[in-house]
Amino acid sequence: MMQLPTLSGETAVFGLGRSGLACVAALVAAGNQVVAWDDQMGPRQQAETLGASLRNLAEDFGAPSQLIVSPGVPLTHPAPHPIVASAQAVGCAVLGDMDLFAMGLEAAGLRDKATLIGITGTNGKSTTTALVHHMLQSAGFAVHMGGNIGTPILQVPMPNGDAEKTIYVLELSSYQLDLNRQLSCDMGVMLNLTPDHLDRHGDMAGYAIAKEALFENGKCHDLRVIGLDDAPSREMAERQLSAKRVTISSTHSQGDIHVTEHGLQQGAGASLDLRACPALPGAHNGQNAAAALAIGQALGLSQKAIAASFESFTGMAHRLQSVARHATLNFVNDSKATNAEATRHALAAFENIYWIAGGVAKAGGLSGLDAHYTNVRAAYLIGDAADGFAQSLAGKMSVEISRTMDIALRQAADQAQADALAPATILLSPACASFDQFEDFEARGLAFQAAVSTWIEAQEAGGVA
Ligand code: ADP
Repeated sequence: MMQLPTLSGETAVFGLGRSGLACVAALVAAGNQVVAWDDQMGPRQQAETLGASLRNLAEDFGAPSQLIVSPGVPLTHPAPHPIVASAQAVGCAVLGDMDLFAMGLEAAGLRDKATLIGITGTNGKSTTTALVHHMLQSAGFAVHMGGNIGTPILQVPMPNGDAEKTIYVLELSSYQLDLNRQLSCDMGVMLNLTPDHLDRHGDMAGYAIAKEALFENGKCHDLRVIGLDDAPSREMAERQLSAKRVTISSTHSQGDIHVTEHGLQQGAGASLDLRACPALPGAHNGQNAAAALAIGQALGLSQKAIAASFESFTGMAHRLQSVARHATLNFVNDSKATNAEATRHALAAFENIYWIAGGVAKAGGLSGLDAHYTNVRAAYLIGDAADGFAQSLAGKMSVEISRTMDIALRQAADQAQADALAPATILLSPACASFDQFEDFEARGLAFQAAVSTWIEAQEAGGVA
């Protein structure tokens, strides 16, 4: 666990998910006076067991010296959360768990024993974070991964203080970058910037400002990797000129590292073949791999070691994950595709797609996908977006309003089997958030996998699914 300093006054923690509870535990362990609240009873009880006292901060904010909030709590848009507004009114600092992490390293005198690598972008953060972590672990570095992925950051170990630095690979969402102003990474990656979360950032400009906080005030002085595949990212690359800037692109040959048909190309120099890397399909994964390559090189890894780690990378669940095969049918779970841009890459990656989409639509709906509809044989629509998506897809492909995952999977697989096209892909890539029908995107992906298993078992039993 991270050791934190003892802060002056009372520390309030609002939002007791996994990372909020980790904040409570680390703050209490450092002798802080902690008051906690969450709208749900279960997490409140857990915080109390960990040593926090409970106070409904919405009714009685009191006078804490600092307020720790989870990244899901709105700071500015559509309006500051009332508890954030209470803090702002009394001049109480509003911080996040990444700030506590940074403060813990400083207070222990271990900041120079750590290399912090921050990874952001609209899509590809988790994949790139996991790939970089795997690459550095394979190369024998002491490395931990945290942030918006895996273990809450305050539960990862402190640097061991040896001569060798400990590396922290941090997945940073725009919410975290907006909130965590004390975190200063040594290396940073900004993969891409397309419309998402605009309700929380006001507009695209506000979203870009939040992301650019990764680089502001000379942060990421050792390496700034920036994508060139969309206009807002290209503008950021122009503003972040530095000798340590590396540009990457999956579509432009002018990036310092760009994606080719077979892999990655570095100017006129070295190339890296991605065809032997089963967990990195598609040009978008080329962009992720390009970012990892830039980091590997900055840390002195050989091209051979980097390539070997890309080959042994097993990928991440719910991201273009092939979960089953039956005869010529490939079942692919891309539940993490919660916006149209992520789904665009999925539709580009396969042919003869039987596409399950829907949920809670994002602003812009399915815009930008038309060019890839030639790969799609039929769409099976679920959730709140089903009727709206059916209207946007009418006349462009065969459309079924399936409503639920079970029905969608059964209809899609039956149709693919009847059409007997080879290869064929039954693809869940919703282009939507999941919370109308599922707890989160993971639950949605697992529901897809369960429906796939049921259908395959029925085929194998010779019955009708
Ligand atoms: P994030 O953590 O940013 O949400 P993930 O790595 O979890 O990103 O991937 C989310 C979705 O975006 C998946 O559907 C994945 O296939 C797709 N994706 C992954 N990398 C990229 C990229 N570089 N550009 C666009 N889409 C991507």
